[in-house]
Amino acid sequence: MNRFVYTSHPVRVVFGRGTVAAVPDEVERLALSRVLIVTTRSSAATADAVAAALGGRAAGIFPGAVMHTPVAVTETAMRLVAETGADGVVAIGGGSVTGLGKAIALRTDLPQIVVPTTYAGSEMSPILGETKDGQKVTQSTEAVRPEVVVYDVDLTLGLPPALSGTSGINAIAHAVEALYAPDRNPIITLMAIEAIAALTRALPAIVRDPGDVAARTDALYGAWLSGVCLGSVSMALHHKLCHTLGGSFDLPHAETHTAVLPHALAYNAPAVPEAMARLAGVLGDDPARALWDLAGAVGAKRALADLGMPESGIALAAERALARPYPNPRPLERAAIEALITRAHAGAPPE
Ligand code: NAD
Repeated sequence: MNRFVYTSHPVRVVFGRGTVAAVPDEVERLALSRVLIVTTRSSAATADAVAAALGGRAAGIFPGAVMHTPVAVTETAMRLVAETGADGVVAIGGGSVTGLGKAIALRTDLPQIVVPTTYAGSEMSPILGETKDGQKVTQSTEAVRPEVVVYDVDLTLGLPPALSGTSGINAIAHAVEALYAPDRNPIITLMAIEAIAALTRALPAIVRDPGDVAARTDALYGAWLSGVCLGSVSMALHHKLCHTLGGSFDLPHAETHTAVLPHALAYNAPAVPEAMARLAGVLGDDPARALWDLAGAVGAKRALADLGMPESGIALAAERALARPYPNPRPLERAAIEALITRAHAGAPPE
Protein backbone atom coordinates (compact mmCIF):
# COMPACT_ATOMS: atom_id res chain seq x y z
CA MET A 1 0.00 0.00 0.00
CA ASN A 2 1.33 3.42 -0.91
CA ARG A 3 1.71 6.30 1.52
CA PHE A 4 -1.60 8.12 2.03
CA VAL A 5 -3.28 10.86 4.04
CA TYR A 6 -6.81 10.41 5.40
CA THR A 7 -8.73 13.25 7.01
CA SER A 8 -12.06 12.48 8.66
CA HIS A 9 -14.56 15.31 8.72
CA PRO A 10 -16.72 15.63 11.83
CA VAL A 11 -20.18 15.67 10.27
CA ARG A 12 -22.83 14.03 12.46
CA VAL A 13 -25.09 11.71 10.42
CA VAL A 14 -28.52 10.49 11.49
CA PHE A 15 -29.81 7.85 9.05
CA GLY A 16 -33.04 5.86 8.82
CA ARG A 17 -36.80 6.06 8.32
CA GLY A 18 -38.74 8.87 9.96
CA THR A 19 -35.51 10.52 11.12
CA VAL A 20 -36.74 14.01 10.20
CA ALA A 21 -38.56 13.82 13.54
CA ALA A 22 -35.11 14.02 15.15
CA VAL A 23 -34.47 17.56 13.85
CA PRO A 24 -35.71 19.25 17.09
CA ASP A 25 -33.32 17.04 19.11
CA GLU A 26 -30.47 17.99 16.79
CA VAL A 27 -31.37 21.69 17.19
CA GLU A 28 -31.27 21.13 20.94
CA ARG A 29 -27.88 19.36 20.74
CA LEU A 30 -26.42 22.36 18.92
CA ALA A 31 -27.98 24.66 21.57
CA LEU A 32 -29.84 26.65 18.90
CA SER A 33 -32.91 28.68 19.76
CA ARG A 34 -34.04 30.28 16.46
CA VAL A 35 -33.39 28.30 13.27
CA LEU A 36 -34.34 29.44 9.79
CA ILE A 37 -35.72 26.64 7.60
CA VAL A 38 -34.73 26.92 3.92
CA THR A 39 -36.45 24.76 1.33
CA THR A 40 -38.35 24.62 -2.00
CA ARG A 41 -41.99 24.11 -2.84
CA SER A 42 -41.56 20.33 -3.32
CA SER A 43 -40.57 20.00 0.36
CA ALA A 44 -42.99 22.62 1.75
CA ALA A 45 -45.10 20.11 3.67
CA THR A 46 -42.03 18.64 5.39
CA ALA A 47 -40.75 22.14 6.20
CA ASP A 48 -44.12 23.05 7.75
CA ALA A 49 -44.10 19.89 9.86
CA VAL A 50 -40.54 20.55 11.07
CA ALA A 51 -41.45 24.16 11.91
CA ALA A 52 -44.47 22.97 13.88
CA ALA A 53 -42.34 20.45 15.78
CA LEU A 54 -39.77 23.15 16.56
CA GLY A 55 -42.40 25.59 17.85
CA GLY A 56 -40.72 28.77 19.12
CA ARG A 57 -37.31 27.55 17.97
CA ALA A 58 -38.38 28.00 14.30
CA ALA A 59 -37.50 31.54 13.24
CA GLY A 60 -39.24 31.22 9.85
CA ILE A 61 -39.36 29.37 6.55
CA PHE A 62 -37.68 30.54 3.33
CA PRO A 63 -39.09 28.39 0.50
CA GLY A 64 -37.29 30.10 -2.39
CA ALA A 65 -34.12 28.03 -3.05
CA VAL A 66 -33.38 27.53 -6.77
CA MET A 67 -30.79 25.70 -8.89
CA HIS A 68 -27.18 27.01 -9.03
CA THR A 69 -27.44 29.15 -5.85
CA PRO A 70 -27.93 32.62 -7.36
CA VAL A 71 -26.44 35.30 -5.10
CA ALA A 72 -29.63 37.41 -5.43
CA VAL A 73 -31.68 34.60 -3.81
CA THR A 74 -29.09 34.21 -1.04
CA GLU A 75 -29.27 37.95 -0.38
CA THR A 76 -33.05 37.74 0.00
CA ALA A 77 -32.66 34.85 2.44
CA MET A 78 -29.94 36.80 4.29
CA ARG A 79 -32.41 39.60 4.97
CA LEU A 80 -34.67 37.05 6.68
CA VAL A 81 -31.69 35.75 8.68
CA ALA A 82 -31.04 39.30 9.90
CA GLU A 83 -34.71 40.16 10.56
CA THR A 84 -35.38 37.00 12.55
CA GLY A 85 -32.05 36.89 14.37
CA ALA A 86 -31.63 33.26 13.25
CA ASP A 87 -28.85 31.33 15.01
CA GLY A 88 -28.89 28.26 12.76
CA VAL A 89 -30.13 26.92 9.41
CA VAL A 90 -32.17 23.81 8.66
CA ALA A 91 -32.05 23.01 4.92
CA ILE A 92 -34.67 20.56 3.63
CA GLY A 93 -34.45 19.58 -0.06
CA GLY A 94 -32.09 18.61 -2.87
CA GLY A 95 -28.69 20.01 -3.80
CA SER A 96 -30.20 23.40 -4.65
CA VAL A 97 -31.53 23.84 -1.12
CA THR A 98 -28.30 22.54 0.43
CA GLY A 99 -26.46 25.13 -1.69
CA LEU A 100 -28.54 27.96 -0.21
CA GLY A 101 -27.92 26.71 3.34
CA LYS A 102 -24.18 26.63 2.61
CA ALA A 103 -24.27 30.12 1.09
CA ILE A 104 -25.88 31.44 4.28
CA ALA A 105 -23.29 29.61 6.41
CA LEU A 106 -20.50 31.14 4.31
CA ARG A 107 -21.75 34.63 5.14
CA THR A 108 -22.72 34.06 8.78
CA ASP A 109 -20.90 30.96 10.07
CA LEU A 110 -24.29 29.71 11.34
CA PRO A 111 -24.45 25.96 12.02
CA GLN A 112 -26.38 23.89 9.47
CA ILE A 113 -28.63 20.86 9.80
CA VAL A 114 -29.28 19.43 6.32
CA VAL A 115 -32.11 17.06 5.44
CA PRO A 116 -31.37 15.87 1.86
CA THR A 117 -34.21 14.69 -0.38
CA THR A 118 -32.13 13.74 -3.46
CA TYR A 119 -28.88 11.80 -3.96
CA ALA A 120 -26.72 14.81 -4.97
CA GLY A 121 -24.26 14.51 -2.06
CA SER A 122 -23.61 18.23 -1.55
CA GLU A 123 -24.43 17.88 2.16
CA MET A 124 -21.14 16.04 2.79
CA SER A 125 -18.91 18.42 0.82
CA PRO A 126 -17.08 21.68 1.54
CA ILE A 127 -17.92 22.86 -2.00
CA LEU A 128 -20.22 25.74 -2.89
CA GLY A 129 -21.02 26.95 -6.40
CA GLU A 130 -22.71 30.35 -6.55
CA THR A 131 -24.07 32.16 -9.59
CA LYS A 132 -23.81 35.89 -10.19
CA ASP A 133 -24.24 37.72 -13.51
CA GLY A 134 -24.56 34.37 -15.30
CA GLN A 135 -21.20 33.10 -13.99
CA LYS A 136 -21.01 30.13 -11.61
CA VAL A 137 -18.07 30.43 -9.25
CA THR A 138 -17.14 27.41 -7.17
CA GLN A 139 -15.13 27.46 -3.97
CA SER A 140 -14.11 24.88 -1.42
CA THR A 141 -14.08 25.93 2.22
CA GLU A 142 -14.72 24.11 5.48
CA ALA A 143 -16.93 27.08 6.45
CA VAL A 144 -19.76 25.60 4.36
CA ARG A 145 -19.56 21.94 5.37
CA PRO A 146 -22.74 21.18 7.37
CA GLU A 147 -22.54 20.17 11.05
CA VAL A 148 -25.41 17.65 10.98
CA VAL A 149 -27.03 15.65 8.17
CA VAL A 150 -30.33 13.89 8.75
CA TYR A 151 -31.01 11.28 6.06
CA ASP A 152 -34.66 10.25 6.09
CA VAL A 153 -35.48 7.45 3.64
CA ASP A 154 -39.19 8.33 3.81
CA LEU A 155 -38.55 11.79 2.32
CA THR A 156 -37.05 10.19 -0.79
CA LEU A 157 -40.06 7.98 -1.53
CA GLY A 158 -41.68 10.85 -3.47
CA LEU A 159 -38.62 11.63 -5.59
CA PRO A 160 -39.86 10.94 -9.14
CA PRO A 161 -38.34 7.79 -10.72
CA ALA A 162 -36.59 9.67 -13.56
CA LEU A 163 -34.95 12.12 -11.14
CA SER A 164 -34.10 9.26 -8.76
CA GLY A 165 -32.21 7.52 -11.57
CA THR A 166 -30.19 10.52 -12.70
CA SER A 167 -29.60 11.84 -9.18
CA GLY A 168 -28.34 8.37 -8.20
CA ILE A 169 -25.96 8.28 -11.18
CA ASN A 170 -24.78 11.80 -10.21
CA ALA A 171 -23.84 10.21 -6.86
CA ILE A 172 -22.09 7.28 -8.59
CA ALA A 173 -19.97 9.83 -10.49
CA HIS A 174 -18.52 11.12 -7.20
CA ALA A 175 -17.54 7.60 -6.17
CA VAL A 176 -16.11 6.69 -9.59
CA GLU A 177 -13.82 9.72 -9.69
CA ALA A 178 -12.77 9.11 -6.06
CA LEU A 179 -11.28 5.76 -7.17
CA TYR A 180 -8.64 7.51 -9.32
CA ALA A 181 -8.23 10.75 -7.36
CA PRO A 182 -4.57 11.66 -6.81
CA ASP A 183 -5.34 12.16 -3.09
CA ARG A 184 -7.36 8.91 -2.71
CA ASN A 185 -6.89 6.68 0.31
CA PRO A 186 -8.03 3.18 1.29
CA ILE A 187 -10.99 4.35 3.42
CA ILE A 188 -12.48 6.51 0.68
CA THR A 189 -11.89 3.70 -1.82
CA LEU A 190 -13.88 1.34 0.41
CA MET A 191 -16.70 3.87 0.61
CA ALA A 192 -16.64 4.45 -3.14
CA ILE A 193 -16.98 0.76 -4.00
CA GLU A 194 -19.70 0.26 -1.38
CA ALA A 195 -21.56 3.32 -2.74
CA ILE A 196 -21.40 2.15 -6.36
CA ALA A 197 -22.59 -1.34 -5.41
CA ALA A 198 -25.51 0.01 -3.34
CA LEU A 199 -26.63 2.53 -5.97
CA THR A 200 -26.34 0.23 -9.01
CA ARG A 201 -28.37 -2.38 -7.10
CA ALA A 202 -30.99 0.12 -5.97
CA LEU A 203 -31.67 2.43 -8.91
CA PRO A 204 -33.32 -0.01 -11.37
CA ALA A 205 -35.47 -1.35 -8.50
CA ILE A 206 -36.56 2.22 -7.60
CA VAL A 207 -37.54 2.96 -11.18
CA ARG A 208 -39.64 -0.24 -11.21
CA ASP A 209 -41.21 0.61 -7.84
CA PRO A 210 -40.49 4.10 -6.42
CA GLY A 211 -41.99 2.98 -3.09
CA ASP A 212 -39.51 0.09 -2.64
CA VAL A 213 -38.23 1.01 0.83
CA ALA A 214 -35.29 -1.42 0.81
CA ALA A 215 -34.05 0.00 -2.51
CA ARG A 216 -34.61 3.59 -1.34
CA THR A 217 -32.60 2.80 1.80
CA ASP A 218 -29.74 1.35 -0.26
CA ALA A 219 -29.77 4.36 -2.60
CA LEU A 220 -29.70 6.94 0.20
CA TYR A 221 -26.93 5.01 1.97
CA GLY A 222 -24.97 4.92 -1.30
CA ALA A 223 -25.62 8.63 -1.84
CA TRP A 224 -24.23 9.42 1.63
CA LEU A 225 -21.06 7.45 0.96
CA SER A 226 -20.70 9.06 -2.47
CA GLY A 227 -21.08 12.45 -0.85
CA VAL A 228 -18.26 11.59 1.54
CA CYS A 229 -16.11 10.70 -1.49
CA LEU A 230 -16.95 14.05 -3.13
CA GLY A 231 -16.22 15.86 0.12
CA SER A 232 -12.90 14.12 0.78
CA VAL A 233 -10.84 13.75 -2.40
CA SER A 234 -10.34 15.62 -5.69
CA MET A 235 -12.65 15.19 -8.65
CA ALA A 236 -11.32 15.21 -12.23
CA LEU A 237 -12.35 15.32 -15.91
CA HIS A 238 -15.91 14.12 -15.44
CA HIS A 239 -16.86 16.77 -12.88
CA LYS A 240 -15.03 19.57 -14.73
CA LEU A 241 -16.71 18.61 -17.98
CA CYS A 242 -20.19 18.54 -16.43
CA HIS A 243 -19.54 21.90 -14.77
CA THR A 244 -18.47 23.38 -18.12
CA LEU A 245 -21.35 21.84 -20.08
CA GLY A 246 -23.95 22.79 -17.47
CA GLY A 247 -22.70 26.37 -17.30
CA SER A 248 -22.21 26.86 -21.04
CA PHE A 249 -25.53 25.43 -22.21
CA ASP A 250 -27.71 25.69 -19.07
CA LEU A 251 -28.11 21.91 -18.87
CA PRO A 252 -29.80 20.14 -15.93
CA HIS A 253 -27.28 18.96 -13.29
CA ALA A 254 -28.00 15.29 -12.56
CA GLU A 255 -29.04 14.50 -16.15
CA THR A 256 -25.78 15.96 -17.51
CA HIS A 257 -23.73 13.82 -15.10
CA THR A 258 -25.67 10.76 -16.23
CA ALA A 259 -25.02 11.39 -19.95
CA VAL A 260 -21.31 12.18 -19.52
CA LEU A 261 -20.12 9.64 -16.90
CA PRO A 262 -19.72 6.54 -19.15
CA HIS A 263 -17.67 8.57 -21.66
CA ALA A 264 -15.47 10.30 -19.08
CA LEU A 265 -14.73 6.94 -17.47
CA ALA A 266 -13.93 5.35 -20.85
CA TYR A 267 -11.54 8.25 -21.55
CA ASN A 268 -9.66 7.74 -18.28
CA ALA A 269 -9.83 3.91 -18.32
CA PRO A 270 -6.43 3.25 -19.97
CA ALA A 271 -4.70 5.43 -17.35
CA VAL A 272 -6.37 3.90 -14.26
CA PRO A 273 -6.07 0.07 -14.39
CA GLU A 274 -6.38 -0.35 -10.61
CA ALA A 275 -9.62 1.66 -10.45
CA MET A 276 -10.98 -0.21 -13.48
CA ALA A 277 -10.24 -3.56 -11.82
CA ARG A 278 -12.10 -2.45 -8.69
CA LEU A 279 -15.02 -1.18 -10.78
CA ALA A 280 -15.12 -4.45 -12.75
CA GLY A 281 -15.68 -6.21 -9.41
CA VAL A 282 -19.01 -4.38 -8.97
CA LEU A 283 -20.02 -3.44 -12.53
CA GLY A 284 -18.69 -6.33 -14.63
CA ASP A 285 -16.01 -6.55 -17.32
CA ASP A 286 -16.81 -3.24 -19.06
CA PRO A 287 -17.60 -0.66 -16.33
CA ALA A 288 -18.10 2.29 -18.73
CA ARG A 289 -20.58 0.30 -20.81
CA ALA A 290 -22.28 -0.93 -17.62
CA LEU A 291 -22.86 2.70 -16.54
CA TRP A 292 -24.26 3.53 -19.97
CA ASP A 293 -26.57 0.49 -19.69
CA LEU A 294 -27.59 1.60 -16.17
CA ALA A 295 -28.56 5.03 -17.53
CA GLY A 296 -30.69 3.23 -20.13
CA ALA A 297 -32.20 0.93 -17.50
CA VAL A 298 -33.39 3.91 -15.40
CA GLY A 299 -34.86 5.55 -18.50
CA ALA A 300 -32.42 8.49 -18.53
CA LYS A 301 -31.67 10.56 -21.62
CA ARG A 302 -28.19 9.52 -22.68
CA ALA A 303 -27.73 12.17 -25.37
CA LEU A 304 -26.69 15.69 -24.38
CA ALA A 305 -28.58 16.74 -27.53
CA ASP A 306 -31.79 15.62 -25.81
CA LEU A 307 -30.93 17.77 -22.78
CA GLY A 308 -30.69 20.87 -24.96
CA MET A 309 -27.03 21.07 -25.97
CA PRO A 310 -26.62 22.29 -29.56
CA GLU A 311 -24.32 20.32 -31.87
CA SER A 312 -22.52 23.55 -32.65
CA GLY A 313 -21.45 23.69 -28.99
CA ILE A 314 -19.22 20.59 -29.10
CA ALA A 315 -16.03 22.39 -30.14
CA LEU A 316 -16.68 25.23 -27.69
CA ALA A 317 -17.24 22.75 -24.85
CA ALA A 318 -13.96 20.96 -25.67
CA GLU A 319 -12.13 24.27 -25.79
CA ARG A 320 -13.54 25.37 -22.43
CA ALA A 321 -12.85 21.98 -20.85
CA LEU A 322 -9.19 22.37 -21.80
CA ALA A 323 -8.88 26.08 -21.08
CA ARG A 324 -7.83 25.81 -17.44
CA PRO A 325 -5.62 22.76 -16.86
CA TYR A 326 -6.48 20.54 -13.88
CA PRO A 327 -5.24 17.18 -12.61
CA ASN A 328 -6.62 14.19 -14.50
CA PRO A 329 -5.14 10.70 -14.69
CA ARG A 330 -5.00 10.78 -18.50
CA PRO A 331 -3.59 13.95 -20.03
CA LEU A 332 -6.27 16.11 -21.65
CA GLU A 333 -6.03 15.58 -25.42
CA ARG A 334 -8.05 17.98 -27.53
CA ALA A 335 -9.16 15.53 -30.27
CA ALA A 336 -10.07 12.76 -27.83
CA ILE A 337 -12.00 15.15 -25.56
CA GLU A 338 -13.93 16.45 -28.55
CA ALA A 339 -14.68 12.86 -29.62
CA LEU A 340 -15.87 12.07 -26.08
CA ILE A 341 -18.26 15.05 -26.08
CA THR A 342 -19.46 14.14 -29.57
CA ARG A 343 -20.40 10.64 -28.41
CA ALA A 344 -22.11 11.98 -25.27
CA HIS A 345 -23.93 14.52 -27.42
CA ALA A 346 -25.27 11.79 -29.70
CA GLY A 347 -26.02 9.33 -26.87
CA ALA A 348 -23.72 6.73 -28.44
CA PRO A 349 -22.16 4.01 -26.29
CA PRO A 350 -18.76 4.80 -24.72
CA GLU A 351 -15.59 3.77 -26.56
P1 NAD B 1 -32.39 20.04 -7.06
O1 NAD B 1 -32.11 20.26 -5.64
O2 NAD B 1 -32.39 21.24 -7.96
O3 NAD B 1 -33.77 19.27 -7.18
C1 NAD B 1 -34.29 18.92 -8.46
C2 NAD B 1 -35.82 18.98 -8.45
O4 NAD B 1 -36.32 17.95 -7.62
C3 NAD B 1 -36.37 20.27 -7.87
O5 NAD B 1 -37.46 20.66 -8.65
C4 NAD B 1 -36.79 19.89 -6.46
O6 NAD B 1 -37.81 20.71 -5.98
C5 NAD B 1 -37.24 18.47 -6.67
N1 NAD B 1 -37.15 17.56 -5.51
C6 NAD B 1 -36.09 17.46 -4.68
N2 NAD B 1 -36.33 16.49 -3.78
C7 NAD B 1 -37.55 15.98 -4.05
C8 NAD B 1 -38.33 14.92 -3.47
N3 NAD B 1 -37.87 14.16 -2.47
N4 NAD B 1 -39.54 14.67 -4.01
C9 NAD B 1 -39.98 15.39 -5.08
N5 NAD B 1 -39.29 16.37 -5.68
C10 NAD B 1 -38.08 16.66 -5.16
O7 NAD B 1 -31.41 18.96 -7.73
P2 NAD B 1 -30.12 18.20 -7.21
O8 NAD B 1 -29.67 17.37 -8.35
O9 NAD B 1 -30.38 17.55 -5.90
O10 NAD B 1 -29.08 19.36 -6.95
C11 NAD B 1 -28.51 20.09 -8.01
C12 NAD B 1 -27.81 21.32 -7.48
O11 NAD B 1 -26.94 20.97 -6.43
C13 NAD B 1 -26.95 22.00 -8.54
O12 NAD B 1 -27.00 23.39 -8.38
C14 NAD B 1 -25.56 21.46 -8.25
O13 NAD B 1 -24.55 22.31 -8.71
C15 NAD B 1 -25.60 21.36 -6.75
N6 NAD B 1 -24.68 20.34 -6.21
C16 NAD B 1 -23.65 20.79 -5.44
C17 NAD B 1 -22.75 19.89 -4.90
C18 NAD B 1 -21.65 20.39 -4.01
O14 NAD B 1 -20.89 19.61 -3.45
N7 NAD B 1 -21.53 21.68 -3.85
C19 NAD B 1 -22.90 18.51 -5.14
C20 NAD B 1 -23.97 18.08 -5.93
C21 NAD B 1 -24.87 19.02 -6.46
